[in-house]
Amino acid sequence: ELLTKTNFDELSNLDKKHIIHPVAVPKVHASVGPKIIFSEGKGVYVKDVHNRSYIDGVSMLWNVNVGHGRKELADVAHEQMMKMAYSSTFYGYGNEPAIRLAEKIASITPGDLNTIFYTSGGSESNDTAFKLSRFYWEQKGFKNKRKIISLRRGYHGVTVSAQRATGIDAFRNFSGSSDPDILNAKAHLTECELGDKSHPEFSGCIRSIIESEGAEHVAAVILEPIQGAGGVHLPPEGYLKAVRKLCDEFNILLIADEVICGFGRTGELFGVNNWEVVPDLMSIAKGITSGYSHLGGVVMNNRVADVIKEYDDVLPHGFTYSGHPTACAVGLKNIEIIENERLVENAHQMGAELEKGFNYLNEKHEIFTNQRNVGLLAGFDLMKDPDHNIPFEQSKQAAVSVVDECYKRGLLIRCFDFEPGMNIIAVAPPLTITKQEIEKTISILDDALASFS
Ligand code: PLP
Repeated sequence: ELLTKTNFDELSNLDKKHIIHPVAVPKVHASVGPKIIFSEGKGVYVKDVHNRSYIDGVSMLWNVNVGHGRKELADVAHEQMMKMAYSSTFYGYGNEPAIRLAEKIASITPGDLNTIFYTSGGSESNDTAFKLSRFYWEQKGFKNKRKIISLRRGYHGVTVSAQRATGIDAFRNFSGSSDPDILNAKAHLTECELGDKSHPEFSGCIRSIIESEGAEHVAAVILEPIQGAGGVHLPPEGYLKAVRKLCDEFNILLIADEVICGFGRTGELFGVNNWEVVPDLMSIAKGITSGYSHLGGVVMNNRVADVIKEYDDVLPHGFTYSGHPTACAVGLKNIEIIENERLVENAHQMGAELEKGFNYLNEKHEIFTNQRNVGLLAGFDLMKDPDHNIPFEQSKQAAVSVVDECYKRGLLIRCFDFEPGMNIIAVAPPLTITKQEIEKTISILDDALASFS
C-alpha cells in the first residue's frame, strides 16, 4: 500500500537518525535525509513511496541484470526457505543449491575455471582471491610471492585488501587502512606491458612494477575486464591479452574481477570473453543473483584448485554465508532466466541501440563526448569544449547537474567526479531493456543535456 506523505516524513526522520549511508555525504544526509525511498520495481522501472516512477538506468548498483519484480526468483527463494533457508558450508557440510550452482558456474565460465569458493559479495570475493593466490604460492614453496598488482581507476570493493587494490584514492585511503603488499599500476598501457621500455609512460606500468619488485615477490595481477566504478573505461584492443602474456612470462596469477562485467552485462556472459582471455581466478558477485540475494564467489582454474585440494589441514577461511542455500537457489534460477530469455544476446543488441542513441546525443550536444560501451556497460564524458579537450571548472558540477535533471525526468543514472575536472556519466540498465525503453532513456538524457548550460 502506498505510503502517505506523513509516512515519508516519518521514515525520512528515522533514516536520518539511525542510518549512516554508504557512499553518501553524512552531514548532508543527516540534515536532508534520503533522496528517494524506494517502494517497488518491475522490469527496468522502479517506484518511490510517492509513486513516482523511474527508469533504473544503472540497474541500481550495476547488478539487477534480469530486472526488478521477477516472481520466479521470489518463488525459488520461498521454496528453498521453506525447505531450509540456511545451512552452513563450514566443516565440509554441503547443500544441493550450492553444489548445483557450482557445477553450473563451472560449465559457463571460460577455460578450466571449474572450482568455486563462495562468498557473500564482491569485496569478499576479491579479498578471498588475494588470500587464495598467496596461499597457492605458499603451497608451491614460494612464500615471498605475496604482492598483488592492481590498476589505477580500478574498483574492487571496500574490505581491507579490496580497498587497497582499488585505484580510486578516496576509497583506497579511507580510514588509513593498509595491506602494504598491494600496489597500484597505471592502467591500459598495452605497449608498455608488451615490453616497450622507451615508452614515456613505462614507469609505473604493471611490467615495470614486476621488474622493480621482482617477480619472485608478486602473487597476482587483478583487473576488471572493463573498469566500472572508476568511470567505465574500456581497455584498448590487445590490452587484456598483453597482461595475460605478461603474467605467464613472469609466472604470476591473473585475477579477473567480473563483479560488474559478469553474467551478461557486456553482451558476453563474462567480460573476458570479449577478448578471449582466460584468467586463473575470477571474482564474481552482483549479477550472479541480479541482487535478489547476496552472493559472490571466486572461481579458480584447475592449476590453482588442484594445489589447494592437496592441502592436508583445515583451511582457515570462509564466511557464514559462503554457499548460502537460498542465495544459491536464487543464483541458479537467475542464470536460467539469463539463458532462457537470451539476455546476453539482448545486452549485445540493446548495446547497439544505446550506441545509436549516444551517436545522436553526440551530434546534438556540444558537451557530450567520449561515448563508449560494450553491450550494456556504457558511459560518456561531459566537457566544456571537447574539441579542445577543455574540461568544466569543478564548480560547474556538470555531471551532477545532468544526473539531477535526469532524476527529475524519471531516469536514474550515475556520475563520477572524484577527480578535478572529471565529469563521467554511466548508463547500465537491466539486460531485459527493450528498444522503446532505450529510446525513452535517450530522450530523457537529451532533455537533461539541453536543460544544462
Ligand atoms: N568489484 C567490482 C568490479 C565492483 O564493481 C564492486 C562493487 O561495485 C566490487 C568489486 C565490490 O562488491 P561488493 O560491493 O559486493 O562488496
